[in-house]
Order: sequence, then structure tokens, then C-alpha cells
Amino acid sequence: MDCIFCKIIEGKIPSYKVYEDNQVYAFLDISQGTRGHTLIVPKNHSNSVFDLSEEDAKAVFSIVPKLSNVLKKAFNPIGLNIISNNEKPYQTVDHFHIHLLPRYKNDELTLSMVNRMGEYQQIDYVDILDAIKSAMKA
Ligand SMILES: [Zn+2]
Repeated sequence: MDCIFCKIIEGKIPSYKVYEDNQVYAFLDISQGTRGHTLIVPKNHSNSVFDLSEEDAKAVFSIVPKLSNVLKKAFNPIGLNIISNNEKPYQTVDHFHIHLLPRYKNDELTLSMVNRMGEYQQIDYVDILDAIKSAMKA
């Protein structure tokens, strides 16, 4: 399989390894969006969250608090973002991964949340919930 993250896990492509266990591999994101920017990936290949097994999800997410605290201790950030892009528009490597992004004052990283609360009526929330509940049953 021609997957750059699988090659990194297998050691065929060098990486700056942060952490490794039987199921999980973590390494510095070469882009270093912020100082300490780290990727956590399952060793088993999954394209995205949509085909990630629950077992791999447990393994990958269970290491998030530990590595977040390590980054906090190492770089003293003002906070930290945890991001995972799945399919369009932002996923650039089709091997599931979680970004840990320590945040700093004036770090110029922009991730803006949008609040549309004023645009929604009770009926809109009920419609959304109905769609989710129907999908759960299917
Ligand atoms: Zn892969």
C-alpha cells in the first residue's frame, strides 16, 4: 500500500518519533503548524474515522491526555487544540490521524468556531436530531 504514514510506522520513511506502543505511533508533524505539533496514528491502516475500528480508536484516543500533558510540560503553551480532519476538505493523508496543536499567544494559527445559534429555531434542532436518530437505527 502506498501510504506515507504506514511507511513512517514501518520505519521506511524517517520521522521524529514522539511515542510508540503496540497499536499507536506518534511523531512530529513536519509542518509544525505550532511548536510541538504532533500527530497520533493507529498502526493499523484506516483511511479515516469512517473505517477506524473501535479498538484502534480506543488505543489512539487513550494516549491523547498523556501526550497533551507532555507537550504542556515541554512547551508551556496557553492551551492545546485536538483536531482530526476526515475526508474533505482538509484531510491530506488518507491514514487516520489526530493533530495535537499546542497553542501560543500570537501563534497565527486560525481555527474559528462559528456560532449560528441565532439562526436556529427549536424545530430546526428537532429536525437535526431526527436525522441523527434515523441514521442510528439504520
Ligand atoms: Zn497507512
